[in-house]
Amino acid sequence: MIKSRAIVLHRFPYSDSSFIVKALTEECGIVSFIVKGGKKKESPFRGALDPLSLSEVVFRQNPNTELQFIKEATLLDWRKNLRNDLLCLSKAQVMSEMILRYAPQGVPLQEEFARLEQAISEFEETCGSSDATNANSANASSSARSSTSADSLSTNSATASSTPKTEQNASPSAALPTSPHATYKSNIFAQWLLDTCDMWGYNIDLTTCSRCGKTLDKPAADFFPETGGFVCEHCLGVDTPRAKAETLNGLWALHCGQQIEHPEFTENALLTYLRHHIGFLKEIHSIKFLNETRKLFGK
Ligand SMILES: [Zn+2]
Repeated sequence: MIKSRAIVLHRFPYSDSSFIVKALTEECGIVSFIVKGGKKKESPFRGALDPLSLSEVVFRQNPNTELQFIKEATLLDWRKNLRNDLLCLSKAQVMSEMILRYAPQGVPLQEEFARLEQAISEFEETCGSSDATNANSANASSSARSSTSADSLSTNSATASSTPKTEQNASPSAALPTSPHATYKSNIFAQWLLDTCDMWGYNIDLTTCSRCGKTLDKPAADFFPETGGFVCEHCLGVDTPRAKAETLNGLWALHCGQQIEHPEFTENALLTYLRHHIGFLKEIHSIKFLNETRKLFGK
């Protein structure tokens, strides 16, 4: 019997009353579950097996079958704030789909779990912030974090903070640890993509010119998503850069831990780089939804 935290990546109907759920578990990597009666209103798994939910699942792993029977699923965080933010939600769906399609199956994926859990938690924190577009201080981030634990559905978690929100606002820099740099909502997806490049062995060197080898001290003059190579001002010379200024500035901001102003350029450059390395065989369907959502928000 295995007990593990899990992030639900995908869920689809199976027969009239059942679901098949694919989840990234902390202990066993990606596991496919058959959830009999999961569609019923009185299902004990309600909410715990919704896509992007963080849950604790208990199952017996049968090596002879691809579909595992789930015994228990306890909801830890439904990601309420993230679900109310369409743009962040569509980015989180792309992350889930990329893990599902490109991460190796049948092996533990602890680093993938940790990074995805972190990114989704950061979305949940920054989407819940009252000033969601400008999470420019660690205080904003920590106060969002505490309101998340107070508002979340994880009331049965012993570690959930029960501090009322008003008290938190009175002392924003309470005992909560502050991250080394503030989490910017607009950086989360790009940072996850950059970390994923690193994790899957396609590290991008954000600080070196790929032609002369000099260390960059400002945004590069060009970037080639096919190779992940940056070019300095000197090496570019009089040539016209192929990369847009928004892309170059965004990648530099990511390196410096500063807020990315137009994240869609940076995200698309990193997606192009990753897809060049992973291969174009499998299309990431949720990118279409992300692009539609970006249009809706003028991004
Ligand atoms: Zn150079």
